[in-house]
Amino acid sequence: HAKGQGRNQVRGFDPQLGRMLQERRLLEADLAMAIEDELLELHFQPQVRLGDGAIVGYEALVRWNDEKRGYVSPAEFVQIAEETGQILKMGEWVMRAACREAVNWPESRRVSVNVSPAQFRRGNLVLSVQQALRASGLEPGRLVVEITEGVLIDDEDRALQVMRALKDLGVRLAIDDFGTGYSSLAYLRTFPFDKIKIDRSFITGIEDDREAQIIVQATIDLARALGISVVVEGVETFGELAALGCQPDLVLQGFLVSRPVSRGHVPGFDSFSAEQRQAIADQVNGGS
Ligand code: C2E
Ligand code: MG
Ligand code: MG
Ligand code: MG
Repeated sequence: HAKGQGRNQVRGFDPQLGRMLQERRLLEADLAMAIEDELLELHFQPQVRLGDGAIVGYEALVRWNDEKRGYVSPAEFVQIAEETGQILKMGEWVMRAACREAVNWPESRRVSVNVSPAQFRRGNLVLSVQQALRASGLEPGRLVVEITEGVLIDDEDRALQVMRALKDLGVRLAIDDFGTGYSSLAYLRTFPFDKIKIDRSFITGIEDDREAQIIVQATIDLARALGISVVVEGVETFGELAALGCQPDLVLQGFLVSRPVSRGHVPGFDSFSAEQRQAIADQVNGGS
């Protein structure tokens, strides 16, 4: 009875909540249509190796440019898609579209694709990766699957099984947002990651944050010792870059190098500004 009463209260006395629920239902319906009609887009953000400034890959980031709302943040709609189950269909589209783009790039560049917990739990991720590789002809070693710690929490055995199957295909695995979960280190021990993406929250303002500097450097050293490569997410300023120092094997992904760009911009996008390149070269050569 308490439950029924609560529901009446929502309907009767909180018009604002009612409006929010209605907006949410509309958003879900519009998102379902956008996924169905393949109206989503992918943008690509370059990842640059510090040592030589080479672009080693791009992260594919989904975009929804809704005619009423404009660009809706993926942080918002990916979460909704996750809750409604639409993520399975969306994730399959993202995987196919990302592989299809990447075959047109120089062979030395990989594509990183985010997968969400539901794709691990309920979807047949291995099959959809296989199909995307086959349909595009992309060499499996050029695909990186980015996994957040959220994927690993609830069913470690299943996660490990899926990850091993992906590795058997020749696909690489990255742990995304590294350091934000509660057992990052344990995950490095249990799961076969090839790559760590250090979360942006450790990088923002790192030049004035001694603790962050120590944690980031320890993470880099740990990864090196384990034979895992490191991507540093969210580098926005030269100050942050300077705080990372001259480490030629580090890979940068951040607005300092480039924002995510639309697919049309990727082929001609072989580098960033001369000023940026010089600053990175200075870092690596121990200059500044
Ligand atoms: P993520 O996978 O950690 O992706 C990195 C996010 O950081 C992207 O946001 C990117 O635009 C942003 N970023 C990169 N460099 C900088 C920087 O220097 N400064 C700042 N402030 N931000 C930077 P975006 O595209 O809004 O995506 C947010 C999140 O949504 C992603 O975080 C990922 O968790 C999720 N997402 C995006 N695309 C997909 C997708 O295709 N599938 C799934 N499952 N999730 C996705
Ligand atoms: Mg990611
Ligand atoms: Mg991330
Ligand atoms: Mg993130």
